[in-house]
Amino acid sequence: MNEQFKDLKIESRLAQIGSVEEPVTGAVSFPIYQSTAFRHPKLGQSTGFDYARTKSPTRKVLEEAIAQLESGDAGFACSSGMAALQTIFTLFSQGDHLIVSLDLYGGTYRLLEKIMSRFGVTATYVDTNDLDALESHYRPNTKAVVVETPTNPLMMITDLEKVCGWAKKKNLLSIVDNTLLTPFFQRPIELGADVVIHSATKYLGGHNDVLAGLIVTKGKELSEQMAFLHNSIGAVLNPQDSWLLMRGMKTLAIRMERHEYNATRMAAFLLEHPQVESVYYPGLESHPAYEIQKKQSSGNTGIFSFKMKDARFIEPILRHIRLIAFAESLGGVESLMTYPAVQTHADIPEEIRRQIGVDDRLLRYSVGIEHIDDLIADLSRAIDLAQAEIEGA
Ligand SMILES: *Cc1c(COP(=O)(O)O)cnc(C)c1O
Repeated sequence: MNEQFKDLKIESRLAQIGSVEEPVTGAVSFPIYQSTAFRHPKLGQSTGFDYARTKSPTRKVLEEAIAQLESGDAGFACSSGMAALQTIFTLFSQGDHLIVSLDLYGGTYRLLEKIMSRFGVTATYVDTNDLDALESHYRPNTKAVVVETPTNPLMMITDLEKVCGWAKKKNLLSIVDNTLLTPFFQRPIELGADVVIHSATKYLGGHNDVLAGLIVTKGKELSEQMAFLHNSIGAVLNPQDSWLLMRGMKTLAIRMERHEYNATRMAAFLLEHPQVESVYYPGLESHPAYEIQKKQSSGNTGIFSFKMKDARFIEPILRHIRLIAFAESLGGVESLMTYPAVQTHADIPEEIRRQIGVDDRLLRYSVGIEHIDDLIADLSRAIDLAQAEIEGA
């Protein structure tokens, strides 16, 4: 990000991503440089760009912006959130061990258990908010702590300062998946993390139209190591999607404010609903980690989960919602509802799912930026129709 903007508030920095970085034409929207090769001025010289996998102009503006927004030293744009995680996990070698959040994005669990394990990198899943549990699972070959906070779908919160502090003492890397809050609400590096990862497919992109992942690193050595892996593996983001992602990020601040408002209203509505057993949302004062969440972030995500009292409601609710789409993914302007037990978390063994509470009565709701009255009316109607069907059966 341009140096002259670095002291501005985050809303201003977001809106201005790339806007003064093109001196030749003065283009306010940074151009899409659709070139993989870059001419060398002469032998031994470079414009700073040689080959697009290593560095590419449009991607570079995005990477500098996310590094600055997350208070890190370097940013890396990848072809998906999973590509970003895979790139990060190749920091580790055969025999290394990771301590990982218990309630975890299903794809991350699958990558660790089905792929990284084949290369001898093992993981133990613990409640990362429990220092005793961390301590008891620490081994001499443990190399990092991998945290999601809040977790998806159960919205468990980890105290980042506490865990990153513990990791530092043990000489471990702290890796934080910040997908659900974005740097607008939470900046893990400021709380002690070494690496931040985003599925930028979600809130950063924000429109359910671009698949991307971002990595931010803190520290010179780690940043150089990540640059080497990013270039060597090559799961990099293309210029078109780099541009599309920046276009989405410019409105991140106002989108997140509306997502938070809508999710808070929706969670409150469901909390009072007689057919709903519980609502998992850190923005509710009843959430067990409400205070930790308030301490370490300036706002709440737009997604939450809720559990119906009766599993028979799930199928008809998903059939009767109209404005809210029954679809995987989260973080876009359009409202989406997911059934984690059979979709996003299907790769997690049933006993682990049950242990953490991802059961057949749980729905996850990514609240969009539509009008809250329309959203409440849609879900309320779907629950009523489901109830009528169950009672009529
Ligand atoms: C979606 C998601 C990912 C994976 O990202 P993709 O862009 O789908 O590859 C990783 N972590 C979290 C928390 C996610 O929600």
